[in-house]
Amino acid sequence: MLLSGRKGVILGVANKRSIAWAITQAARNHGAELLLTWGNDRFKEGVVELGRSIGVERYAPCDVSRDEEIAALAEQAKRELGTVDFLVHGVAFARKEELTGGYVDTSREGYRIAQDISSYSLAALCRAFRPLMKRERDADGEGPTSSVVTLTYLGGQRVIPNYNVMGVAKAALEASVRYLAADLGPDNIRVNAVSAGPIKTLSAAGVSSFSTMLNQLPARAPLRKNVTTDEVADASVFFLSELARGVTGEVLFVDAGFHAMGI
Ligand code: NAD
Repeated sequence: MLLSGRKGVILGVANKRSIAWAITQAARNHGAELLLTWGNDRFKEGVVELGRSIGVERYAPCDVSRDEEIAALAEQAKRELGTVDFLVHGVAFARKEELTGGYVDTSREGYRIAQDISSYSLAALCRAFRPLMKRERDADGEGPTSSVVTLTYLGGQRVIPNYNVMGVAKAALEASVRYLAADLGPDNIRVNAVSAGPIKTLSAAGVSSFSTMLNQLPARAPLRKNVTTDEVADASVFFLSELARGVTGEVLFVDAGFHAMGI
């Protein structure tokens, strides 16, 4: 029970295939008390049904492109949880037409939307939740930490066909993890990313030739397989727990080792 007595807010559950849902389940199994959100009203019923099936009692809407919804979420978390020990950012979006062909053809508006929802939202959430996540140190400079975890992909560091504007947004997201780690470290708030291998989810379905990638990876990855959402969730629990109390500003690959390969 690595998260027993810890309270967390999770963004990014759309359905049972979502990586954020696997993290939700793992966090519950480790004893966490949770507040779950949906980014779009069409997911509300499904998110509440999933959450209730594992005893989650708190819910809120939060479209991360809207400052007022982020502020309302932080207010609700303060009211219902008091303090927040961890925040999971499992949110990303790019328009489907940007996820095919060349990056060179990215539209200005498509670029703005992908950056806003997939990258800027992490900074906006960290700002809103900072007062609830700040932890005091003792005279020796030690003390409990709180933790923010986001999800990224290899396409933020290398060229992945069709990932395009989302790869550029993930690069910005990973840089944000480092800048936010530096800003929030003095408050004992850690900020890290888990870089997941390809997994069939709603978002992934938007990337052209995603299935080809999924089929080819096992032959090339050191562990000769694709990863599961459970494997990503277990690594996330490490970051959310005090086992990772000395780790911040980090990107941890959970991709069966694929990122380590050259040719
Ligand atoms: P998913 O579609 O289940 O989750 C994406 C979530 O983002 C959805 O819940 C959606 O509602 C939410 N979202 C989109 N726009 C939003 C907005 N404006 N406000 C609030 N929420 C919004 O897919 P997933 O694969 O579980 O994606 C979760 C994260 O994992 C994403 O950051 C994704 O880039 C990342 N990731 C996915 C893979 C993969 O292969 N599936 C690999 C590496 C990283």
